[in-house]
Amino acid sequence: MGEHIVEVPAPAPHVLMIPVPAQSHVNSMLNLAEILCVAGDINITFLVSKNIHDGLLLHANVESRFSNYRGFRLLCLPDGIYEGKIITTDDVAKLNDSFKSVAEPFLREVLLSLKSNWTKTKSPFTTIIADGVMSFAIDAAEEMSVPIFYFRPVSASAFWAYFSLPQLIENGEIPFSGDDDMDVAITNVKGMEGFLRRRDLPSFCRSGIRSPDFEMILTETAQTPRANGLILNTFEDLEGPILSQIRTFCPNLYTIGPLHAHLKSRMAAVNPNSSMNSSSNSLQEEDRSCIEWLDKQPSRSVLYVSFGSVTVLKKEQLLEFWKGLVNSGVKFLWVIRPDLVTGKNCDEHNKKSPADELETATKERGYMVGWAPQKEVLAHPAVGGFWTHSGWNSTLESVVEGVPMICWPYFGDQQINSRFVGEVWKIGLDMKDTCDKVIVEQMIKDLMVDRKDDFLKKAEEIAKLARKSIGSDDGSSFCNLDQPTRLLVACTS
Ligand code: UDP
Repeated sequence: MGEHIVEVPAPAPHVLMIPVPAQSHVNSMLNLAEILCVAGDINITFLVSKNIHDGLLLHANVESRFSNYRGFRLLCLPDGIYEGKIITTDDVAKLNDSFKSVAEPFLREVLLSLKSNWTKTKSPFTTIIADGVMSFAIDAAEEMSVPIFYFRPVSASAFWAYFSLPQLIENGEIPFSGDDDMDVAITNVKGMEGFLRRRDLPSFCRSGIRSPDFEMILTETAQTPRANGLILNTFEDLEGPILSQIRTFCPNLYTIGPLHAHLKSRMAAVNPNSSMNSSSNSLQEEDRSCIEWLDKQPSRSVLYVSFGSVTVLKKEQLLEFWKGLVNSGVKFLWVIRPDLVTGKNCDEHNKKSPADELETATKERGYMVGWAPQKEVLAHPAVGGFWTHSGWNSTLESVVEGVPMICWPYFGDQQINSRFVGEVWKIGLDMKDTCDKVIVEQMIKDLMVDRKDDFLKKAEEIAKLARKSIGSDDGSSFCNLDQPTRLLVACTS
């Protein structure tokens, strides 16, 4: 009798994923986690802070959603940070420090205990995927000889501008003050020389000093080449020239976006009968009544207005926007988060004033919610435009659905995203640095009436490219996902 060779399957990789604890970062990294679960046999430990953990369980249905994936677990950090607190833009650098102070020792402890105290019933972390501003994870990974991938939930263009900060400093182009001439051309971000102005650089460049946010992004981004690879939520046809620039420093660059659409199509391929729309990673309760309202509106007639999860407006800005909206005569669906308005008397104002005024004055044309099922809204045939703050998730969600945008960027990467929307991709209008009811009215009419067909046509062309990128017939993002997945598997052996 010949010798019987039993092939022992390689153990599944076990990936530790660490997002920055904020809505959009968690949102896209959770999509990445689910896409990896759908794509193969994999164990994932998703490490989050207490507030995110609770939000995900309560509103994103994570427990039942991920119950299909044997290897997924949500792990809550022992200490809560920013528990129950609203995160504002001022908190970003503090939040990162605070998360780091909790996550860093925890990560070391976990990795160390795994090295010394390993049992056969569990598999160790074979790889780390960390948000690309967490160099402590690279330090720990190097120390423990665990491979690490960075994931950046911003556009390639924003990443490249961050990466170019040292050249901009060296050549005296930044920092500058908000009072300086904002239309001066910027020449030290390679590949963007023709169209980048001061006002399009990340917002922390305009504070006149090197603020904590500035220092954090500068230092953290410079560490990227130390990671074994960089994963970006974008696609080749959208940001190809900029991706080539990044590849000169980070050759192991994997573009696998738009992640939310990529995930949806992979899930449909595995289970064609699945009724699942794309997964919602909302940390807040969605008001679905707006979908019923949209159902009653004519095709492409509604402007969807939302400024994401962090942007805040002063009362005067909100009123200026509202007047412009009403004067445009266009129908609108507006997300007014309970914490959208700041400033004096904002509590009282948040409770009744804006929504009440709007409701009375625009009953026949407007609809307001506190938080919308955004991806579904953008996919609705009644929506013809999106007035956005140009957060990267919102931008990609609009791109995929072929919805043209009006951009009112607030902070961080949004300034550069809106420049690309208006000047490079030509799928919308950039309203940055203005807050004037007349301009609002003009831009809405331009996007939704006067040049509506041109914008819709161009947006549909780019949407087609997005769909092509995630297609199983050689789409770039579809193929690119195999590479990090193969590497994750290779890391187990
Ligand atoms: N979002 C949502 N409902 C809303 C507003 C926003 O589901 O009413 C989601 C949106 O779909 C996106 C995320 O919140 O996925 C916002 O991320 P983005 O990167 O656009 O902006 P940020 O919130 O980080 O400023």
